[in-house]
Amino acid sequence: MVPPEERSEPAWWFAYQENKLLVYEGPSGVSLPLLADFSELELTPLSKHYLGSIDYRHCYAVEVGEGTIPPAGMIFEGLRQLYGRLDEDLFWIAGRAVQIIDWDRTHHFCGRCGTPLRTKSTERAKECPQCGLLHFPRLAPAIIVLVERGKQLLLARSRHFMPGMFSVLAGFVEPGESLENAVVREVREEVGIDVKDIKYFGSQPWPFPHSLMIGFTATYASGEITIDDTEIQEAGWFTVDSLPRIPGKISIARKLIDWFLAKQGT
Ligand SMILES: [Zn+2]
Repeated sequence: MVPPEERSEPAWWFAYQENKLLVYEGPSGVSLPLLADFSELELTPLSKHYLGSIDYRHCYAVEVGEGTIPPAGMIFEGLRQLYGRLDEDLFWIAGRAVQIIDWDRTHHFCGRCGTPLRTKSTERAKECPQCGLLHFPRLAPAIIVLVERGKQLLLARSRHFMPGMFSVLAGFVEPGESLENAVVREVREEVGIDVKDIKYFGSQPWPFPHSLMIGFTATYASGEITIDDTEIQEAGWFTVDSLPRIPGKISIARKLIDWFLAKQGT
């Protein structure tokens, strides 16, 4: 992505200190700095990356040092805590920004020969000037699947969920596996049942830290719930009127559950 050569109009600045974003905080909520140049905040960035544009506004990611004190009226805030408070389009760009900064920070040298890498200007990649190996931003695809059985849906509790929270099943795709294979394997491994009628639902970037969630719906085919207790603490079939605590609006998990609820007329 090639940055504009000249720019006089203000741009959006996604400034991160570790994984916290710099935002204005005021009585009407939080907002991002919209400035001609980041130096107007009198902070010195460690790195700067062009992200593209939205509604004719250019967007940049910048990284600031650990000890940086936020300017007056501003705070560093975790990205998850900003969902629903920051404009939704800008929120997802902030997710792109944190992943690109993290990739840049963790890819200084070639993994094959150790030579310092050079950033390519024509694509989002770094190239080794010694051996030519290309390094792209890391992206880990994961499937997430809602399994239904008539008026019931399958929900499970992972060991690292907040107390009482249940969600649909999810897991990383393995090398050499199709997304549909991954759905079948994950459901079988985690709860011991087989599914059929696997249908694509939608996808969502999940920048915590660098996943792409690919959502599916599926129908119960056979088997009894037998949980893999290294991953899952509890799993069961739930109906609309017996739902446990479910994930917040930010996640595709919730969109899948809401889809099921809408289908049941709720
Ligand atoms: Zn190399």
